[in-house]
Amino acid sequence: MLRVKPLAFDSFGVRSMATFVETEDLKVLIDPGVSLAPNRYSLPPHPVEEQRMSETWADIKEHPSRSDVLVVTHYHYDHYDPEEPEIYKGKIVYLKHPKELINKSQEKRASYFLDKLTGIPKSIDIADAKEFEHGSTSIKFSHPVYHGTNPKLGYVVEVSISCGGEKLVFTSDVEGPSVAQR
Ligand SMILES: [Zn+2]
Repeated sequence: MLRVKPLAFDSFGVRSMATFVETEDLKVLIDPGVSLAPNRYSLPPHPVEEQRMSETWADIKEHPSRSDVLVVTHYHYDHYDPEEPEIYKGKIVYLKHPKELINKSQEKRASYFLDKLTGIPKSIDIADAKEFEHGSTSIKFSHPVYHGTNPKLGYVVEVSISCGGEKLVFTSDVEGPSVAQR
């Protein structure tokens, strides 16, 4: 059994890919963050967008208490929020490597986030290219792959969660199959 609940996505009116996954053994919250597009043509986000952001963030924040594992695939603010580290309290946390295969801006953000997380989660593991078993559930992370078609925006890790013959692949911000497999 694998249940997948999208919590916030672009089609919900926000920038996010926050996803809650439930298996027989485990509950996993992937990329708990939400943001809006910055000003466009010097116009700020519409009040309806602001409202959607606060609604979806409230919904996301209801899920850590029911989760065993929290995952952050990269350090863009639509995938995590460094200012609310308490949602990681007592959780098993799998993070994109904060120093390797990362661009400068995300490296800085990762370092800030790790400082904020100090002492809060149950454990923190680097996710890149690793596999973790929880009962009959397996969480497997890809090698870091480009965010887009080149390393300008940095790298992300993709996540697969499998249990009982079913599998979810969460690609994060790869922006499509645009680069040959390495
Ligand atoms: Zn991103």
